[in-house]
Amino acid sequence: MATLNPATGRFRLPARRRAAAGGGPDPVRAALAPLLAAHRMSHPTGHRTSHRTGHRTAGPGDTPPRTAEAELLRGYAVAERMHRGQLRKSGAPYITHPLAVALILAGMGLDTTTLVAALLHDTVEDTPYTLGELRADFGDEIAVLVDGVTKLDGRRWGDRAEAETFRKIVLAAAADLRVLVIKLADRLHNLRTLRHQPEHKRARYAQASHELLVPFAERLGIHVLKREMDDLAFAARLPEAHEATRRAVRAALSRAGPTFGPATALLRSSLAEHGVRARVEVRPSHLYAVHQSFGAGLAGLRPCEAARLLLLVDGPAGDCYIALGAVHAALHPVAGQVRDFIATPKDNLYRSLHTRVISPDGDPFEVIIRSEAMHPVAEYGIVAHIRDAGGDTGPTVAERRDLVWLSRLLAWQSGAPSAEFLDRLRADLAAGNVAAFTTRGDIVPLPAGATALDFAYALGPGTGDRCIGAVVNGRLAPMSVQIRSGNVVQILTDPAGAPSEDWLGFAATVPARVHIQQRLALRRAEEDADAGRRRLVMALAGRGLDLLAAEARGDSLAVARDLGYSDVDAMYGALGTGALSLDDLLARFTRP
Ligand code: MN
Repeated sequence: MATLNPATGRFRLPARRRAAAGGGPDPVRAALAPLLAAHRMSHPTGHRTSHRTGHRTAGPGDTPPRTAEAELLRGYAVAERMHRGQLRKSGAPYITHPLAVALILAGMGLDTTTLVAALLHDTVEDTPYTLGELRADFGDEIAVLVDGVTKLDGRRWGDRAEAETFRKIVLAAAADLRVLVIKLADRLHNLRTLRHQPEHKRARYAQASHELLVPFAERLGIHVLKREMDDLAFAARLPEAHEATRRAVRAALSRAGPTFGPATALLRSSLAEHGVRARVEVRPSHLYAVHQSFGAGLAGLRPCEAARLLLLVDGPAGDCYIALGAVHAALHPVAGQVRDFIATPKDNLYRSLHTRVISPDGDPFEVIIRSEAMHPVAEYGIVAHIRDAGGDTGPTVAERRDLVWLSRLLAWQSGAPSAEFLDRLRADLAAGNVAAFTTRGDIVPLPAGATALDFAYALGPGTGDRCIGAVVNGRLAPMSVQIRSGNVVQILTDPAGAPSEDWLGFAATVPARVHIQQRLALRRAEEDADAGRRRLVMALAGRGLDLLAAEARGDSLAVARDLGYSDVDAMYGALGTGALSLDDLLARFTRP
């Protein structure tokens, strides 16, 4: 274990352990230098950081509190010893991988416990080291994290049990969200080194990343990881498109000065006039986003299509709205393009104002406004919250009330069979899909653009037909309101309610539209039949005849059958629409 040197105030490993870690002056410390430096940047006190201070870390000899550095050195030494002799596909010693994963996490400011778990994350799976040994050496908290990541490893399940993998991810996140964060960093490093894998594996691995882990990174708001994973997976799946996009974006950005320069100058003076202090940055879009927007139509990609302006406001959230006013005062806004993710944050913690404005040379571009305080959460999502949690609370899903999506999913999935869970989750994660919830916590997957009406029909045709209003996140809303992921929706019904023509103006899903059209056609047929029958009643009454009596005798049905209709209503309906003439019909009824 580590001992404190009173002269230097620093902890050092005993000579025996240093010798065991390898020859030379101190190769362990040298290998770890970048990790230690990155960790010191975000945790300058040097104390070991964790979010589970309630847990006692039952390692051997844990009487004095360990420093972060000593703990990282210890984790590294064990991982390096266990993986010794193993090589990555690149030919590098295996330990370079867990070290890189820990470095990614240290760069995001994660705590010592997460970093030690990252160093050890492949030991239980790939070496003789057992979970029991790891628990004895490093304590429960790190064991839970390593066990969670081990269980998440896709290699163990393969495609056959994909549903189980999904399920494990959600369950692991329930135990501790840091499991997911380690898994995402693990995947990021594997994507960074994907070129060393055989070609047939690359595309599959990249596709699986796009389908599963990238959406999870987005849902957790970890955009820094999401963007890099997106682009690495893009490069592996579509190398030519990736290269074309990279070149087009670079060319567009090289011309960004003339577009964004004058706009930025106007914005700066307008912000000053409005008394708002803000940094203005040109933010290039990531390549996969550009590819998704423009596909092969990259020719002549304009600077405003490859980047947007980011305003970082130095002040309270309210100043963001003043900044928005300043932006619109300086540059003409595009109507209907303001989105307020401050008043109504996305379900992944993201907060910002978005608007589109016209640059002085006539090109529309996007401006994003957020405060300096919102910025880390917008970039790092849940990781920023884990960091801020300090030592008070463990960041489990239950404690993260703002992650409505994940907590509802958890509540829902506990009783659901795997296959159904997978279908629902896949539908939810597919690009552009939303997942809303009933007040009971049941997930209702809907396509993007779906409204409360679609939600009502997703609950069943009876609910859809009779809906009269919705309560979305506790607020009364019309049936035409668009549903966003994470919304909790209650449908208000009236037994006398019925579909109306204008519903087709905002029903977005196929089942809802088909059902509404059928119901409307049925009602029109009834109305036509009523109108037709009324005409016939009047005409017969003028001749002293009673239709009711004719119907009672079966005369009416006989006439209908004669004319080839299945029943009297069909005949009356034809009369109502004019398909059957009144005179023809009268002649048959008045025939002696
Ligand atoms: Mn790994």
